[in-house]
Amino acid sequence: MSDPPFVIIMEKEIEIKYHGIFDSHAHYDDDKFDEDREELLKSLADHGVEKIINIAADMESCKTSCELAEKYDFVYSAAGVHPHAAEEVYGTDYLTKIEEYLSNKKVVAIGEIGLDYHYDFSPRDIQRAVFEEQLALAKQLDVPVVIHSREATEDTLELLKKYRPKGVVHCFSGSAETAAEMLKLGLYIGFTGAVTFKNASKLLLAAQSVPLDRLLIETDCPYMTPVPHRGKRCDSRLVYLTAEKLAELHNVDTQQLIDITHKNTVECFEL
Ligand SMILES: [Zn+2]
Repeated sequence: MSDPPFVIIMEKEIEIKYHGIFDSHAHYDDDKFDEDREELLKSLADHGVEKIINIAADMESCKTSCELAEKYDFVYSAAGVHPHAAEEVYGTDYLTKIEEYLSNKKVVAIGEIGLDYHYDFSPRDIQRAVFEEQLALAKQLDVPVVIHSREATEDTLELLKKYRPKGVVHCFSGSAETAAEMLKLGLYIGFTGAVTFKNASKLLLAAQSVPLDRLLIETDCPYMTPVPHRGKRCDSRLVYLTAEKLAELHNVDTQQLIDITHKNTVECFEL
């Protein structure tokens, strides 16, 4: 993918109003953070961001993500293969490698894994096979998963019902009905800055339908930049905007929502 150039958000554009924020899904190993990664990560505490789970997407990012978790106390990591990279790993010894990463106690989940029928970067049968293999591994090792599902609700649900993993459906983009199915399976639901976008009414109904004790907040940075910073590079300093929107939907104080989602993230990833 060739990405458009990005703009880094300046310090003065961000309000600091909250504390104890847990960003449950970020990609700080992404090359969009190459120029200021260290400086940015070190500044997050001053913005009330207390903890982060950095999520892998392919074998290379399993390595770089785990390195970040080893370097920074407040960063945890997941290891896993995104559907985009399914074809790259299919038929290799990637499961053994993921299992090795999981022996590090800062590596707390298998993810992100799932199905993406929007981009179809890997053939669907291979996406399904690689998702299924990782769900089986999660079950065997009794670790949580981070699930990515885009335009693939039916197949995702079918495999989740078959394997019954624990974990989170991240960057939720479905309906309240789909959320209800995921909740029935005992999963947490993660929301990004997408809840702040215009025309998000269906997503807002879904977000409202998820009980507070199953909600997680996340940036999915460098992507999914919340309003009013769209078009710029996202980072964890902005997750409070997602929290404010969810707090409004649930009629609670934003700091209260931040505290609840922090506790939920600890529970979801068994930290
Ligand atoms: Zn992600």
